[in-house]
Amino acid sequence: MSLKHGLSLWCPQTSSSSLNRITHSYSLPFVRSQRRSFIVSSSSFANENREFVIVGGGNAAGYAARTFVEHGMADGKLCIVCKEAFAPYERPALTKAYLFPKDKKPARLPGFHTCVGSGGERQTPDWYKEHGIEMLYEDPVTGLDITKQTLATSSGKLLKYGSLIISTGCTAVRFPEKIGGNLPGVHYIRDVADADSLISSLESAKKVVIVGGGYIGMEVAAAAVAWKLDTTIIFPENHLLPRLFTTSLARRYEELYLENGVKFQKGSLIKNIEAGSDGHVAAVKLEDGSTIEADTIIIGVGAKPAVQPFEAVGLDTTVGGIQVDGLFQTRVPGIFAVGDVAAFPLKMYDRIARVEHVDHARRSAQHCVKALLSAQTHTYDYLPYFYSRVFEYEESARKVWWQFYGENAVGEAIEVGNFNPKIATFWLDSGKLKGVFLESGSSEEFQLLPRLARSQPLVDKAKLQNASSVEEALQIAQSSLDATAAV
Ligand SMILES: Cc1cc2nc3c(=O)[nH]c(=O)nc-3n(C[C@H](O)[C@H](O)[C@H](O)COP(=O)(O)OP(=O)(O)OC[C@H]3O[C@@H](n4cnc5c(N)ncnc54)[C@H](O)[C@@H]3O)c2cc1C
Repeated sequence: MSLKHGLSLWCPQTSSSSLNRITHSYSLPFVRSQRRSFIVSSSSFANENREFVIVGGGNAAGYAARTFVEHGMADGKLCIVCKEAFAPYERPALTKAYLFPKDKKPARLPGFHTCVGSGGERQTPDWYKEHGIEMLYEDPVTGLDITKQTLATSSGKLLKYGSLIISTGCTAVRFPEKIGGNLPGVHYIRDVADADSLISSLESAKKVVIVGGGYIGMEVAAAAVAWKLDTTIIFPENHLLPRLFTTSLARRYEELYLENGVKFQKGSLIKNIEAGSDGHVAAVKLEDGSTIEADTIIIGVGAKPAVQPFEAVGLDTTVGGIQVDGLFQTRVPGIFAVGDVAAFPLKMYDRIARVEHVDHARRSAQHCVKALLSAQTHTYDYLPYFYSRVFEYEESARKVWWQFYGENAVGEAIEVGNFNPKIATFWLDSGKLKGVFLESGSSEEFQLLPRLARSQPLVDKAKLQNASSVEEALQIAQSSLDATAAV
């Protein structure tokens, strides 16, 4: 039996160990019914039948592919349907090293294909070929028939699948066309094509306006000043990254941005974007009537889950996205969703959540594929983790990199350190450490953060407040963790 003849491998009598693992998982009711419907052909790809199909060739897809390979279940059985022209890559690079000017050694593909971001092998297009994974590039899925188990693609292909993993991520929220959201010179950044288009604007830009003070805005602004461009960030809130930063923490970063030449227009709403006589963007008009000139505008005001055409598998109405259980199964047997698009049970905090961060994309993909291919039945137990890195180019006077674990908007925030270079914030609720943020830590210090946020030790607030350095504060937290473990 050739491994390329994927569907015949669903035979339960096989003696291969990897297939035994599958058999366990396939004792789930939906898998049994799928197996019946798949006594179809011996040559999966030639007959347009695929055992496993991943829709969306992004971050999660790359990590899912690696897990299929690790289980010996990719070759001749796995197909990835991509909208983009590229094999999966580490998307966070797009607003970091990818945007550096030429003299600052910008990152380019194939340098950051998955799974380099977590220290894994670089999965170039050849890697997929070598592992017998079928890649359909630039052919987005446009339709799903859950009864026939088929996908339609924009080029007109009809793909039959055994199990389907949806990892279509998000799309950037756009400004309406009527207020200038589609003018030449207005950019959104979600994929390599967007980043390339932005770079070609930056090459001749003079005045850059960034709308949004979140991750994307902060990272793009840091890159824009590396091009020595007049750069302004506009946002409606009082400070940068209000979803995570306290006012005091934000102030430190804002001062650093100001030192780097970035200007702020806080508490401001955009009325519309104006074009010049050549039709190209020329200015941003604010609700207060003022105008800021700009030849390049980057909108970073959030993203929404790419759920079309998957409504049939069940959408979450509270947080958006495709609703899944702790094993990433949707309500339709044999269909899974992972990464940004999945609304999953966040076990630690007992709520349904969508997490638009790369760590979750990687972990959810791996967890889902392991559950699909093996007897793994423990549910996903994610600890929220966010990070960013900016000003990391050569000749930068100050590089910054921070990590956060846990929950931030709970309890009281205690800040320790002077941002020279370290600063830490601890969120305590009824004495319990719920969340922890650290700038410029050592790798050992960063490794402590998830242990703290996961264990939520009781910490002496007064001691923490009196800590004279970040190192001392982390030592206090570590002692609390040890004391909790000893009980
Ligand atoms: C510019 C940028 C910077 C970021 N920086 C950070 C960071 O610093 N730290 C962090 O933790 N996270 C960051 N993120 C978030 C992180 O990249 C995402 O959480 C992660 O990429 C999600 O992985 P995913 O596979 O779910 O989605 P994606 O990586 O977005 O991949 C989805 C893929 O599906 C494709 N697709 C969509 N619809 C279809 C369809 N119908 N058919 C076929 N394919 C389709 C898309 O084109 C895309 O290639 C950043 C995101 C962006 C956009």
